[in-house]
Amino acid sequence: MNTTNSAITYPVMEHFYTLQGEGKNTGEATYFIRLGGCDVGCVWCDVKESWEADKHPKYTIEEILAWIPLHCPAVVITGGEPAMHNLEALTKAIKENKKKIYLETSGSHPITGQIDWVCLSPKKFKAALPESLPLAHELKIVIYHTSDLEWGEKYANLVNSSCCLYLQPEWSKKEKLLPIIVEYIKQNPKWKLSLQTHKYIEIP
Ligand code: SF4
Repeated sequence: MNTTNSAITYPVMEHFYTLQGEGKNTGEATYFIRLGGCDVGCVWCDVKESWEADKHPKYTIEEILAWIPLHCPAVVITGGEPAMHNLEALTKAIKENKKKIYLETSGSHPITGQIDWVCLSPKKFKAALPESLPLAHELKIVIYHTSDLEWGEKYANLVNSSCCLYLQPEWSKKEKLLPIIVEYIKQNPKWKLSLQTHKYIEIP
């Protein structure tokens, strides 16, 4: 793999090679890099241990590149809130190694870097920036309460017309909410259902 700037480091909570479980790219072999640091504060967050960036070891870009198998086609940069970090150098290096780059963000911080696919998942706890919305290839609304369906419509009206629209039940509420979401999508078919398939098949 190519090498690059050794002075820049990123706090990484975890990293692993798996299949993307959610959204448009579900099922694709993908390397996940979960960066530490998040100031959004979702009450139902399933990675609260990611919130404090300083609790996670920092790695150089060379070290991060070395984790990613040569044949792996795509890298997801997630968090935490990965847009809290300047991703220019990291994404440039990953692109030089011919990988697609997917970003999973709440949109609450400026999006930087060379991103092929932005999954924007806005949260009630910290609003997405207006400038983040047109960058979304995929809008993912996590449904924790039925009122989130109406809340998500606001964002559906703000993203590009080509943006894929997904409703995803929050994992702990899925039994109660899935029938409601299915019925909602039948009535509002611009939306599609996203499930956390990796949790159903118990892979990372
Ligand atoms: Fe957790 Fe993501 Fe919400 Fe941050 S934005 S609190 S990492 S769910």
